[in-house]
Amino acid sequence: MPEETEAIVLRSVRYGEADAVLALYTPDRGRVSAIAKGARRPKSKLAAAAQPGVRVAATLHPGRGELARFGGATLLEPNAGIWARADRLRAAGAILESAYRVLPEEDPSPEAYTLLTRALGLLSRAQEHPGAADLHPIVLSVRAKLIVVSGLLPELGRCASCGGGGPLVAFGAGAGGALCPDCAGLGQPADPAAIDGFAQLVGRPLSEAFDALAASNAAVVDVMIAEVLEHGLGVRLGRPSSKVLGRTGRAVRDSPAG
Ligand SMILES: [Zn+2]
Repeated sequence: MPEETEAIVLRSVRYGEADAVLALYTPDRGRVSAIAKGARRPKSKLAAAAQPGVRVAATLHPGRGELARFGGATLLEPNAGIWARADRLRAAGAILESAYRVLPEEDPSPEAYTLLTRALGLLSRAQEHPGAADLHPIVLSVRAKLIVVSGLLPELGRCASCGGGGPLVAFGAGAGGALCPDCAGLGQPADPAAIDGFAQLVGRPLSEAFDALAASNAAVVDVMIAEVLEHGLGVRLGRPSSKVLGRTGRAVRDSPAG
């Protein structure tokens, strides 16, 4: 049976002469793959709906193999503002790649769908962020919330090892989160302000991401989030990977950090 669904296009990979294999995030099925036949022909009706970062309504026709066919697509939200500026485009690439790698296939999370919908909408009108995409407040906020959706939230309010109230001066994903001076050897030293910044990103809405995280803490929060994802899921973000909004991991890494 063909299936009508909303979806966010996470990724589009060239396939054959003119087709694209899409990774979609849907509210009811989670992450699914589908083939968009002819989508890379300039006049294809599917071309606009097969771009990473857009939200669409589409029909998924069961395919002969495992891959469904993507058809009858209409744009619900093009998030056009993302393409208006390079910093937004790089941040969108980082968000879509995070979602692709963190959210498992065929495992629906309505919270994740709402998170991505809101994040791309906010990003398409976000203020300028001159630093690296991995340190963009909206990117880090999305990653912090993906950790929550994945059930991996570390302890950030007291010592994860002894339960003591702090100060919290270190962080270890394997130890369960933030650590007090007595237990600091179980993790790596971390600025208490950065640990608090991580907690703020988890607790405050996406729309407050720029206020929740001081730029000076972003790099440490990025490392803590990366540790949690690697320890919990074996996922390493930010490595060169296949095309997400046409960027490469290298391009992001090479952008100025300040
Ligand atoms: Zn402790």
